[in-house]
Amino acid sequence: MTHAMIEYQKTTVVKGYTDQLLHVDLTNMKIEIKQIPAATKEMFIGGRGYCLNMVYEGTDAATRFDSPENVLAFAGGPFCGEIGFAGTGKFIIGAISPLTRTFCDSNVGGYFFPLVKNAGFDAISVTGKSDKDVIIFVDDITGTVSIKDAPETENAIYDAEKLVDLWRGESKPSAIAFVNAGIGSKNTFFGCVNSIYYDVRRKRCRAKQAGRGGMGTVMREKGLWGIVARSDLSKGSSNHPVDKAGVREAGKGIRTVVRNGDPNELRLAQRGTTALLDIMNTNNILPINNYKFGSDDREINISGKVFEDKIFGQKHPDGCFAGCNLACTKACEEHQLMTGPFKGKTVAVDGPEYETAAAVTNLGIFDIPAILEYAWYCDAYAVDSISTGVVIAFLIEAYQQGHLTKEDTGGVELKWNDADTVFSLLHKIATGADDFTARAGRGIRHMKGWIAEQAASRNGHTKEEILQDLNLFAMETKGMEFSMYITKESLAQQGGYGFALKGPQHDEAWLIALDQVKNEMPTFEQKAAALRWFPLFRTWFNIVGLCKLPWIDVRHPDAAATVDPAKNIPTVDLYLELVNSTLGTEKTLDDLLTESERSYLMHKLINLRQGFGTREHDRIPLRAMAPVFMDEFKDRKDYYLKYLAETVGMDVTSKDDEELLKTLQDYRRDQYETLMDTVYTAKGYDKNSIPTDETLNRLGFEDESYIQIVKEARQRVAG
Ligand code: SF4
Repeated sequence: MTHAMIEYQKTTVVKGYTDQLLHVDLTNMKIEIKQIPAATKEMFIGGRGYCLNMVYEGTDAATRFDSPENVLAFAGGPFCGEIGFAGTGKFIIGAISPLTRTFCDSNVGGYFFPLVKNAGFDAISVTGKSDKDVIIFVDDITGTVSIKDAPETENAIYDAEKLVDLWRGESKPSAIAFVNAGIGSKNTFFGCVNSIYYDVRRKRCRAKQAGRGGMGTVMREKGLWGIVARSDLSKGSSNHPVDKAGVREAGKGIRTVVRNGDPNELRLAQRGTTALLDIMNTNNILPINNYKFGSDDREINISGKVFEDKIFGQKHPDGCFAGCNLACTKACEEHQLMTGPFKGKTVAVDGPEYETAAAVTNLGIFDIPAILEYAWYCDAYAVDSISTGVVIAFLIEAYQQGHLTKEDTGGVELKWNDADTVFSLLHKIATGADDFTARAGRGIRHMKGWIAEQAASRNGHTKEEILQDLNLFAMETKGMEFSMYITKESLAQQGGYGFALKGPQHDEAWLIALDQVKNEMPTFEQKAAALRWFPLFRTWFNIVGLCKLPWIDVRHPDAAATVDPAKNIPTVDLYLELVNSTLGTEKTLDDLLTESERSYLMHKLINLRQGFGTREHDRIPLRAMAPVFMDEFKDRKDYYLKYLAETVGMDVTSKDDEELLKTLQDYRRDQYETLMDTVYTAKGYDKNSIPTDETLNRLGFEDESYIQIVKEARQRVAG
């Protein structure tokens, strides 16, 4: 059944923009096309910037993830869909998040937003709530946008090709791409959004995920099953840059860097991001047993080489969008499911990505079939594979520490390296099967409060005392579970997680490899400086609709001779060539950083408006800074003895282990507090992480509403 439909005249993309927003109000079943004002474009550029602006304008301090006015925003950017350059299929999904209770966004690749843009829209905003599950159908072929009944299936991953056939009409399968969230998004706070497209080489549908922050949860809360786009990119579609030859030249440059560099560096085109498993394991960064340990001999069973040789059998160029020769979107074509509602079926598994594999090692499991099983079900249910795994790891450790008992878990013993129990929990969490697993589906922040209450009622300690213990290893900050890197030995990545505006996800500041693996920022000052520059430049990718991997994961051969090789400036120059050739501008790197800083500041202001965003919200659990328990310390005792002697200046000879561990923990806490002060100053914030008046003025945030947010935040911290 069709609930609403409009016809529209397609707008051509000019210099990377259509300047049109598609707005859908699901309460009133109303569809509108709006012009995006020039001032908004200048201030927020696209992608994440547009999502921030839509959410800021459509919500207020009282808005929660399930409020009808919450805006579920989608946006590409001026380079989204440019097939002449690498990494241009990316788009952003943003909303007030169920986990963080403030703005959160997640980026994802695929053909969905390039098709939406080709159909005439730079952004989509969805508000309101529908009583029954519906889809929004953006149909460039018929020139219509409609709201229709959702398909019967809850599992778009399993039924994807059937759905494409249902929607494509006379068009080729590749003319359809869609976003969808499955049943796990209805039952958890960490529902993800699948971006599904037809892969002409593999002759089947592929799925990428906008995993973080519960964007799928917001989607299903609105009664929105998904959004379908139908458009034909082969028929004269173009980003219409000012200087096509310039874009071609820039694209040729980046593809040459990738072609020559990747085979000798990470081998992402062969191994996907599983290439990171070896590197992280070698450097004690791979999460094992709830981030307790960072390296394990069993990693040899699941290394990137094993994935390359045995799992990613078919050697396809796996770009998630045309034009990307880094092509990291690998897949396993056949996996027989061992558990759950699809047990016995043979399925294709997209990925698995490093993060998903590491979520499984973090449960003590080093087994490829288990990783494939976990990856497929997380996508099929549409739950974030990171949050799901980190929640289960936390439950296991809380059980091992005696805070959780069988009384709480429904008689289940929780232990490491127990795949049967992990899959049982996964299926139950995704379906909200019982009280315990339904609570787990609300994330660690909720769960630790509940565990503390349960434990306090039986062991004579107060809830606060137990919470203090749990906080040592409950791996969440701002309500979001940490992504999959051990940060104990990387101060830069501790800040990268702790100061990230959306919570501890690495896309704002993935400094772990530059700091700990390559040792390219050895001094405190270099780490602090990196925590200003990298979040800004990485945010820039998110506001323009580009993938960061061709920049950060392949080093330009000329970068070694530059002042700061980690910034990979010769590749940045290729991005500048893309920008100026598309837009007809003469922008410099400083201009890009300033554009980025505006969106960054907007995110900070939304966080402050929602009652968060100050210094206390940037603190991270001790487990992210140092060993918490003696077995963690002893696991790397020689390393820590050397560290305490050389870096802390401690005489370690006459001290017992308890004193050594306590000194280490205190030192790391102090370092982190000092880092906060230094980075806040560099970012133009006061010591409470609130922007100064000068920062607001410098970036053009002079409107009274912004000033009021800052005033109220200052009053709040002053008590
Ligand atoms: S590097 Fe990977 S994720 Fe990025 S655009 Fe290319 S295929 Fe997609």
